[in-house]
Amino acid sequence: MPTKKIHPDLASVLLTETQIARRVNALGRELKKLYGDEEITIVTIMNGALLFTADLIRAIDNPVRIDCIRTTSYGAGTESHGAPKLVHGLTLDMNGRHVLLLDDILDTGKTLSLISDMIRGVHPASLRVCVLLDKKARRVVPFEADLVGFQIPDKFVVGYGLDFAERYRNLKMIGVLKPETQKA
Ligand code: 5GP
Ligand code: MG
Repeated sequence: MPTKKIHPDLASVLLTETQIARRVNALGRELKKLYGDEEITIVTIMNGALLFTADLIRAIDNPVRIDCIRTTSYGAGTESHGAPKLVHGLTLDMNGRHVLLLDDILDTGKTLSLISDMIRGVHPASLRVCVLLDKKARRVVPFEADLVGFQIPDKFVVGYGLDFAERYRNLKMIGVLKPETQKA
């Protein structure tokens, strides 16, 4: 049963558990059309893309290999500071593989353009990028994902993997925090 109760720290819900589940399943069908029965090497950016990845890989029946990488985070704020850095890189080989890069949200574009360039440098057979959320209005570096779950307005969101100071990742919905919670 989807949870209807709003978390007390949320000012509003942007996407419900049901809306997310439907869209993730639809993305699975789009991936199936693109990849057929090919094996996919998934590169997922921790920790934000954790829940999205877990649901998306179960929406496809392709053989998958999963590699988790980590970039510098926002710390305890809602604004990223400077250029993102890779703090834990690739473990699996990407050479000649069909690589699908996953992230929770495409914001300024800095993280995904950095990571895409890095993956291209290790010669995959193909590289596609899929994000759950896209905040187009915030782009600093020109970057578009191949597959997007939802276009969202320029608001700092939490839930379904997305955090504020490492909290709220386990919310089933995606929402906007109350202003007083963002200062805490
Ligand atoms: P970019 O490099 O595109 O600016 O930032 C991408 C990363 O910033 C995302 O992977 C995510 O971790 C973080 N981020 C961007 N916008 C939001 C947001 O609204 N909420 C949360 N929790 N994280 C965000
Ligand atoms: Mg992230």
